[in-house]
Amino acid sequence: MRQKIVAGNWKMNKNAEETEDLLNELIDKLPEDTQATIIVAPSFVNLASAVQHLEFTNIAVAAQNMHQTDSGAFTGEVSADMLKSVGVNTVILGHSERRSYFGETDALIADKTSTALRNDMTVIFCFGEELEDRKSGNHFNIVENQLKDGLFHISDSDWEKIVLAYEPVWAIGTGETASPDQAQEMHAFIRETVRSKFGSTIAENVSILYGGSVKPDNSKEIFSKADVDGGLIGGAALKASDFAAIVSGI
Ligand code: PGA
Repeated sequence: MRQKIVAGNWKMNKNAEETEDLLNELIDKLPEDTQATIIVAPSFVNLASAVQHLEFTNIAVAAQNMHQTDSGAFTGEVSADMLKSVGVNTVILGHSERRSYFGETDALIADKTSTALRNDMTVIFCFGEELEDRKSGNHFNIVENQLKDGLFHISDSDWEKIVLAYEPVWAIGTGETASPDQAQEMHAFIRETVRSKFGSTIAENVSILYGGSVKPDNSKEIFSKADVDGGLIGGAALKASDFAAIVSGI
């Protein structure tokens, strides 16, 4: 049985005090009996305090990014070892905002993935097509190439540490959501693509999250689809009641 996961990507939101407030609200509101793995990803500067704050809860903490090199002269960057040293064992890589605003390529994301895996971290690997790709009917190709170029160099055993997050760029922060059927169609395609290279056991066990304007009122239907194993939530993760409602719907 693959894991159900709901992860909140806080992006560049919430200062130290606001982070603490939101975590307190989440502790209060999140259902205790959920079978889902719950993850929050605050900004780098608030990760250490978030880990401490959540110590006796079932909420895990992830980073939103990291550098591909272990250490060295890379001003302003954060390494896997630094994250692990404050108790962060999960990292989001390849988010479309990293790809489009910070020029992250499939090759770079492949490198970052290798570094994270070498450091025994779990990777939430994000990918997804842009609107033009979908309009031109090229979306399956794009998604397949992102998967192959970013992830297919890893070994079979690495898959235990991989979570996939399909996030069509046209649905991120736009209020536009892929329909549950569009999500299911792509998730099934992604699982098939993994199966063709790594076999059925790995394909069946990997969790594939959907991301892009997931809200309390659409999450339940999206999560009900056979190949959707949870969500990566942006905007709605910043409101404890919304995030809790989404977790309850899984
Ligand atoms: P959104 O963001 O839920 O605000 O669309 C999702 C994401 O970027 O992970």
